[in-house]
Amino acid sequence: MHPFSFTKAATTREALNSGRRGGRYIAGGTTLVDLMRETVERPETLVDISDLPLREVRVTERGGLRIGALVSMSETAAHPKVRSLFPVISEALELSASAQLRNMATIGGNIMQRTRCTYFRDVTADCNKREPGSGCAAREGFNRMHAILGTSDACVATHPSDVAVAFAALEATVQLLGPDGERRVPFADFLLKPGSTPNREQAIRQGELITAVDIPALPRPLESGYLKVRDRQSYEFALTSAAVALHIRGGVIREAKVAAGGVGTVPWKLPAVEQHVIGERPSDALWKAAAEKAVQGARPLSGNRFKVDLLKRTVERQLRIVGGTR
Ligand SMILES: Cc1cc2nc3c(=O)[nH]c(=O)nc-3n(C[C@H](O)[C@H](O)[C@H](O)COP(=O)(O)OP(=O)(O)OC[C@H]3O[C@@H](n4cnc5c(N)ncnc54)[C@H](O)[C@@H]3O)c2cc1C
Ligand code: SF4
Repeated sequence: MHPFSFTKAATTREALNSGRRGGRYIAGGTTLVDLMRETVERPETLVDISDLPLREVRVTERGGLRIGALVSMSETAAHPKVRSLFPVISEALELSASAQLRNMATIGGNIMQRTRCTYFRDVTADCNKREPGSGCAAREGFNRMHAILGTSDACVATHPSDVAVAFAALEATVQLLGPDGERRVPFADFLLKPGSTPNREQAIRQGELITAVDIPALPRPLESGYLKVRDRQSYEFALTSAAVALHIRGGVIREAKVAAGGVGTVPWKLPAVEQHVIGERPSDALWKAAAEKAVQGARPLSGNRFKVDLLKRTVERQLRIVGGTR
């Protein structure tokens, strides 16, 4: 661990002042401290933001949700409004990490977490994300857990968050506050594909603070849920996952929001799947045909070809669980 200084911000203004001077925010600390211990991250100043008033979950005027950046994963998952309006968010959180981690970890920290690629966390390995220009050990190495969508020559790592998959499906917006004021970034633009700069992972500027994640109102009734496929049933990252929300009225699917996890360099929105089911009646044949479109553009690596078929089956199954067959 490298030496660092530590300060606790009592107000948002204090946090922003420290952030502007290069301070690194720390919320639950469940991922940043690990990375510092492994010397992957070496911030000179940590700014503890855990006392800031960003701990509220509330229903917005239009019937969407605002989740404060410092609400813990467990509080968010258990919140009655999250459970009733968007169960896909609660389920994604409850299938993440462990109970102890979920009690400490925050929503802002979750969407800022870095990849679990083992080479990224091993400072002796070549890794363009950790050290630009050094190469990518995963391309020819152990890449069973890696991405099949959104990859580049520079990096093939997956984004590890589960709740980010639900946020991508629901077309959430990230609320940011920085030295120049507030701005809102659509979730689809917040997490960045690697391209030639895999070291740049989020569209956040130096010193900016995530204050909340907004979930837009969607037509009701809305059925939603999250399916996670992994090597063991708890405390493991996704091989594949699917977040699905469907608005079905008069027996016809009027609205569909679908995204996949464990397969993309960012949570992978599936517009072709959504378009395939809108205007149709739920049926096994529909779910199967729609899921075929989930793998459009997939480029598997030597160790993860199985993910192509697994992704189709994950999406098909979750469409059936949420939409049923009538
Ligand atoms: C063993 C283990 C298993 C896990 N399994 C899963 C899993 O299955 N699924 C899953 O989704 N996650 C999993 N995680 C990740 C876990 O969800 C994250 O560690 C956690 O959400 C991070 O939140 P935090 O508040 O502790 O972030 P911190 O560690 O405090 O911060 C993480 C990053 O976010 C930045 N940050 C934090 N808050 C803000 C803010 N408000 N504004 C701007 N920047 C901010 C920090 O500067 C830092 O870069 C696992 C973690 C561990 C250690
Ligand atoms: S996949 Fe990305 S994070 Fe992993 S070694 Fe390659 S460049 Fe690094």
